[in-house]
Amino acid sequence: MAELLKIAAAYIRVSDERQDEYSPDSQLKKIREHAAKEGYLVPDEYVFYDDGISAKSTKKRDEFNRMIAIAKDKSHPFDVIYVWKFSRFARNQEESMVYKNLLRKKSVSVVSVSEPIPEGHFGTLVERIIEWMDEFYLINLGAEVVRGMTEKASRGEPTCAPPFGYIMEKKKYLPDTESGAAAVVCEIFARYANGEGQREIAVNLGERGVRTRQGNPPDNRWIEYILHNPCYIGKIRWSMEGARAVSKRDYENENILTVDGHHEPLISTELWEKVQHKLEEQKKKYAPHARKEQTIDYMLKGLVQCSSCGATLAINGRSGKSHVRCLQCCNYARGSCHTSHSVTLPKIEAAFIRGLEEAAGNKQFAISPAKAKKSEVDTPDFEKLIALEQRRLERAKDAYLSEIDTIEQYGKNKAEITARIKKLTAMRDKQQAPSTVDVEALAKEVLALIAFLKRNDVTDKAKNEAIRTMIDKVVYCKPSESISIFFRRN
Ligand SMILES: [Zn+2]
Repeated sequence: MAELLKIAAAYIRVSDERQDEYSPDSQLKKIREHAAKEGYLVPDEYVFYDDGISAKSTKKRDEFNRMIAIAKDKSHPFDVIYVWKFSRFARNQEESMVYKNLLRKKSVSVVSVSEPIPEGHFGTLVERIIEWMDEFYLINLGAEVVRGMTEKASRGEPTCAPPFGYIMEKKKYLPDTESGAAAVVCEIFARYANGEGQREIAVNLGERGVRTRQGNPPDNRWIEYILHNPCYIGKIRWSMEGARAVSKRDYENENILTVDGHHEPLISTELWEKVQHKLEEQKKKYAPHARKEQTIDYMLKGLVQCSSCGATLAINGRSGKSHVRCLQCCNYARGSCHTSHSVTLPKIEAAFIRGLEEAAGNKQFAISPAKAKKSEVDTPDFEKLIALEQRRLERAKDAYLSEIDTIEQYGKNKAEITARIKKLTAMRDKQQAPSTVDVEALAKEVLALIAFLKRNDVTDKAKNEAIRTMIDKVVYCKPSESISIFFRRN
């Protein structure tokens, strides 16, 4: 019996952004050659071609959508989708993962002809790295940023701004002896190892006039961060997720690599070990306390979400000297979200009331999107796109902080990305605007709610319940210091 030829599809998309682009015809030719070697035939009917659409744009990709629809069909017309590059297939990593998962369930794989990928788990990782580099390319940072950072880190050279206690000179960290910061670092380690608490040390240093790089008096979080930074024993940290991920208080993130640096350590390895041991003990001691904090009532309890990962913000300790309670993204606290969304309760509550007042004043209300419509291929998920742009903004900052981009380049990137966020937000709001809402009535209800929230004789629990009757969620975006209030769809 003659063996049946296996059938594959080809997806071709040309962007005007890249210089190294093959024409659609040569892409198809290369794809067919490659497919033939693997025993596949690409019939004309399964060649899908989207024309001249920028990978950055959110415009429809008609042929892409048609291809996905055919791939999902019960008849299983093809096993493989060949692309020239992964960046042709999807516009960003999230999108790529969404579609690849969907296709995997239908036993359809996506193969890049020009980026051969090894099998198995390692293959998946490599695939993600390629996609991640493509994202970098899209924000005009170029592959040289990634290459530069990786090379620097592997050579033990700093990839981000020097930590407190060091200064940068000729792209190297040098102990900051002139300002006395290096001595302060040594003192912090020694005092903590001798049994003093982080808050105690912070208060004392503050009274003596010690200030952080940002010019603030030290707080216990700052002390904690210093105590966790292996830079002080001569190591360099580097993260695939960018320099900012390293600078976060995410001490257990396994994506952060620690390599030997070339700079002078400020403290001995013995002192470091002793301090790490104490930090471990302290963590064990305070975990039950953190659980107690979760039972505290506040008006926005369970309603505030992280703009990066969508997780709920919960009480996560107190801020500095003022002892004010702070909210933080749950995933960040666990280490799986890489953007800190720390905000004090009074600040977010004030912003929330201000947001309500503005909404009532302008009679403009963002309504939560209707649920369970995720499978629609051609409705762009604006939340996701906005989150992606926010991440790009962070990466642009990384490139600047690690001295790879100039301030001018950073400014340009920042302006472009911010403009896109604004546009996407407007598009999202427009899409969500329901025609049936009586804005006059809603504005009145909102004003009544504000009056209720301002009362001192009402419990936080009652306020929380009142808010929930009208508000679905409050999304807090730390990078832009803004909140978005979503009203319930009735
Ligand atoms: Zn988060």
